[in-house]
Amino acid sequence: MGGTGGMGGREHVRVAVIGSGFGGLGAAVRLRREGITDFVVLERADSVGGTWRDNSYPGCACDVPSHLYSFSFAPNPDWPRTFSGQPAIRAYLEHVADTFGLRPHIRLDSEVRMMRWDAEELRWEIETSAGELTADVVVSATGPLSDPKMPEIPGLAEFPGKVFHSARWDHDYDLRGKRVAMIGTGASAIQIVPAIAPEVERLTLFQRTPPWVMPRTDRAITAVERWLHRQLPFTRAARRGLLWGIRELQVGAFTKRPNQLGLIESLAKANMARSIKDPALRAKLTPSYRIGCKRILLSSEYYPALARPDVDLVASGLKEIRGSVLVAADGTETEVDAIIFGTGFHVTDMPIADRVVGAEGQTLADAWKDGMQALRGATAAGFPNWMTIIGPNTGLGNSSMILMIESQLTYMADYLRQLGMLGGRVALGARPSAVNRWNRQVQARMERTVWNTGGCTSWYLDAQGRNTTVWPGTTGEFRRETRSVDLAEYEVLRAGERERVPTVAVAVSAVAGPRRSRGGSVGSGAAPLPGALPPNPRASNAGGAGVAPGGAGLAPDGVSSGEAGLAPGGVSGGGGGVAPGGVSNVGGPGAGA
Ligand SMILES: Cc1cc2nc3c(=O)[nH]c(=O)nc-3n(C[C@H](O)[C@H](O)[C@H](O)COP(=O)(O)OP(=O)(O)OC[C@H]3O[C@@H](n4cnc5c(N)ncnc54)[C@H](O)[C@@H]3O)c2cc1C
Repeated sequence: MGGTGGMGGREHVRVAVIGSGFGGLGAAVRLRREGITDFVVLERADSVGGTWRDNSYPGCACDVPSHLYSFSFAPNPDWPRTFSGQPAIRAYLEHVADTFGLRPHIRLDSEVRMMRWDAEELRWEIETSAGELTADVVVSATGPLSDPKMPEIPGLAEFPGKVFHSARWDHDYDLRGKRVAMIGTGASAIQIVPAIAPEVERLTLFQRTPPWVMPRTDRAITAVERWLHRQLPFTRAARRGLLWGIRELQVGAFTKRPNQLGLIESLAKANMARSIKDPALRAKLTPSYRIGCKRILLSSEYYPALARPDVDLVASGLKEIRGSVLVAADGTETEVDAIIFGTGFHVTDMPIADRVVGAEGQTLADAWKDGMQALRGATAAGFPNWMTIIGPNTGLGNSSMILMIESQLTYMADYLRQLGMLGGRVALGARPSAVNRWNRQVQARMERTVWNTGGCTSWYLDAQGRNTTVWPGTTGEFRRETRSVDLAEYEVLRAGERERVPTVAVAVSAVAGPRRSRGGSVGSGAAPLPGALPPNPRASNAGGAGVAPGGAGLAPDGVSSGEAGLAPGGVSGGGGGVAPGGVSNVGGPGAGA
């Protein structure tokens, strides 16, 4: 859907969304709710789902409770478990695509190979594996954890057995009766180890750094709970609110008072001691850094699996492979039939950055060579009308990424409204001063956080040791910072000319009255505007109930009316799903969480 004849016969769309995970599908829903139907979702794979399509390893599940790890505008009363597994989450995303009428917009098997900013025409030229198109605006939702990272291990190419990454599980390979090496002890590995240990002949886990592991209170959601959540939606909203609130209260310890996390460390040690009776093994599994510095992992099965007689721990990184023998840095040798890499993703060196060419002909990867940075986690200087979902410093250590995604969708929606109000062929370019100021503030706040002071190295940090991935605040703060676009932070570009923002703003302010203050800690990149933009009834969340009175907080389940509750096989009663081909009848933007 969408798309008109563009330059040279190429298809042209208003918005090209890249990726169909939570970010891309969420963007598509939000675009339709804004009344924009001239858009496409470009997805390289043959189905939607992103993370939850690609990670199908045994034991794969979310580690944030399902009632929080889901869209506020598409509540699912029927989550099967408190921490639902990958099949249920993937099915949920497929269902979102159907319920909100997104299918006509989605182009599968369309990998974006390159996109270039055309400074004359003010549009993006996009080259995909399925053809070319142009777009006024690109929303890049390619995911921070979507390109698996394989370490360079000498001898790996000659290994005669089976090799795969946890995010590309080979379901045709039968692990039964095999000697298997698991490399890495991150969030995926600790789910895989207990799931495959009973199957394989022998499992050897190669651990460079032990993680802190807390128990996971996973259980089936009872029929009574589901009934209540379907019949009395406030029970579901209350549950989500509680899950969200608890996590918001924890943030201060991570960002300002890491010493408070000592108590959590004691709980994690007790969790280990319950299953690991061997003091030598316990010593190997006890981290030497502050809990929270790396992501705190949740599992009640990991330590019991490590205590099994057929599971070995090599507390040393994999150094080289000689034939079918794996040699650890401490000299330990282990012969195996298969190697599974749970070694994470290209997070601070996202491959998509090499494929985005900006206004001055530089790639995003060039622009980010000293570290990723984006204004309010979304826009980058030199890349007009390009924004990213889950951009730099939007990750979370302890809560649901869907909260951050929905905040970014609110920002995206306001960005498009502002473009519309400016009129004509127009683009917004993030001012370098605004981007730098935002980034300086974020990095200054980072200095006290556990991620920077906790004594670990983690995937949160880039090659220079800078934390360009995590948001150093609450999700409520981020929501306030991204509620609307502050035009003072942008240069307005018009085809054939460069127009100074204050000129535009003054002209508009004569009609509109005083501009509302953002009031956030991270300032705008230009001098305060003398006037204001026209009041935008939707820009400050009117219609969605996401912001608490006084703008002080984030309601965890912001949409009460007009939400499209997901029921098996259809839209729940009273929901406002989008009929295929139509625009949502919902009342508000729906990104309340
Ligand atoms: C195993 C695992 C468990 C997780 N559990 C949690 C959790 O419990 N809680 C939590 O908050 N977060 C969790 N996360 C983080 C998770 O990545 C985010 O919550 C969220 O799913 C990211 O959504 P996304 O749409 O931004 O990215 P993705 O889901 O990664 O989707 C990106 C999409 O973009 C596509 N794409 C990439 N490049 C291109 C291209 N060049 N052209 C076209 N398409 C492209 C990909 O194929 C993919 O479909 C988990 C991550 C993993 C890997």
